[in-house]
Amino acid sequence: MPTPTLPITNEKDLTNWGNFPRADAQVVTPRRLDELPAALASGGPLIGRGLGRSYGDASLAAKVVQMTQLNRFVAFDAQAGTITCEAGCSLAEVLDHVVPRGFFLPVTPGTKFVTVGGAIAADVHGKNHHKDGSFGDHVLWLELLRADGRTVRCSPNAEPALFEATLGGMGLTGLVTQACFRLKPIESAYIRQTRKRAANLEAIFRLFEENTQTTYSMAWIDCLAGGSRLGRSVLFLGEHATLSELPRSLQSRPLAARGGLKLDVPLFLPNKLLNGWSVRLFNEALFRTWRDKRMTLHYDPFFYPLDKIHHWNRIYGRRGFVQYQPVLPLEQSYDGMVEILEAIARFNQGSFLAVLKLFGDQRRGISFPMRGYTLALDFPVSESLFRFLDTLDEIVVRRGGRIYLAKDGRMKAKTFAAGYPTLASFREVRDEADPTRLFGSQLSQRLSI
Ligand SMILES: Cc1cc2nc3c(=O)[nH]c(=O)nc-3n(C[C@H](O)[C@H](O)[C@H](O)COP(=O)(O)OP(=O)(O)OC[C@H]3O[C@@H](n4cnc5c(N)ncnc54)[C@H](O)[C@@H]3O)c2cc1C
Repeated sequence: MPTPTLPITNEKDLTNWGNFPRADAQVVTPRRLDELPAALASGGPLIGRGLGRSYGDASLAAKVVQMTQLNRFVAFDAQAGTITCEAGCSLAEVLDHVVPRGFFLPVTPGTKFVTVGGAIAADVHGKNHHKDGSFGDHVLWLELLRADGRTVRCSPNAEPALFEATLGGMGLTGLVTQACFRLKPIESAYIRQTRKRAANLEAIFRLFEENTQTTYSMAWIDCLAGGSRLGRSVLFLGEHATLSELPRSLQSRPLAARGGLKLDVPLFLPNKLLNGWSVRLFNEALFRTWRDKRMTLHYDPFFYPLDKIHHWNRIYGRRGFVQYQPVLPLEQSYDGMVEILEAIARFNQGSFLAVLKLFGDQRRGISFPMRGYTLALDFPVSESLFRFLDTLDEIVVRRGGRIYLAKDGRMKAKTFAAGYPTLASFREVRDEADPTRLFGSQLSQRLSI
């Protein structure tokens, strides 16, 4: 059979969401699953790419396989509450399909513009990790195109080691072509949200611990407040609203989508606008506005408030930004977060977006979550940033924590190896599936995975 001709483009300065780092890449875009093996033909290293919502270099390489046109729904089983789709389907497309039928994603990150393949490869977590685990915990099976051109079906029973390594394996075991995962039944598209302010870090940790039974929890944290206000935060708790809990005005269309205005940042903004003072002012305003409150809101503003603003990443300027996300083991979380927040206050380059979450147990492979607290912070790229982040890395490693690969574009290989003690067993499985290292990214090369 003749090899199909695949669309290939040469991209200059391809980036992910942080606009840092950049790569020149040859991008192959298969349109059907049967075209995929041809995408491997020119050799590697190559890497699968979804919607580029990882922040650093996880889906950058000299050769990239763009998976987003492989976005067909294969099956939806309302009885079993499962969906099967190609890996290039976005979570937004899945939601559009399943919410009107009374289902929701079992786990969702803070944007719905990620693909199912990307959610599997990063084993993404949401606001419910402490209760429901990560995305991989809900995958019943997946199909993987391996380096040898064979597509294998992996599940907890078939090829279990390859299945586990692929969940959180950052695309290094092969290309996920399709997957079947469990959904969560819902009666409405709305969330009952409770907002609670916490005066400092001790108070927010106490609030998290008092609310471990709540399905969704996440806190915004003012990372520039110091002294007795260090770690002052606002906790957001949420549960899916049942039909009877909805206000009367919403009861006639409980599963409706939410339309509305979308904003755009049309240009890169000068990154001089972002400094310790502007972040301080912004944080003060937020803390004053977000008083304790209960309300019912659509899932869109609850889970994806930033999706409303297209290209919001441009506010950090052309040089881009880094999202720094460590997790610390539970017993080290409080003291470690104090150390990190004090270092940030000294550096005086606060983060507009600083989010604290509680994780449950960890899984195998090189998946990120471990039992403890995780903090996500955005910093614009600057001369001094990387030295500063190296000092934060030292705190994280000393306290037994690790950095999230899906957000990373700058960590050193030794920091990675120290944080992921399961690396050796991951490598064993990966080397068996891909002995010649066909699959590789800028991230995997930088970190010597
Ligand atoms: C605003 C925002 C909020 C976020 N919030 C969260 C959050 O709360 N929790 C969280 O966990 N993450 C979060 N993320 C990160 C995001 O969920 C992950 O980086 C996700 O992997 C991005 O998916 P993608 O489709 O854009 O993949 P890409 O960014 O293109 O790729 C990410 C990784 O997936 C691999 N990959 C993609 N498709 C395939 C495939 N078909 N087969 C094999 N490998 C593949 C790539 O090789 C790469 O290693 C957030 C990102 C943004 C921009």
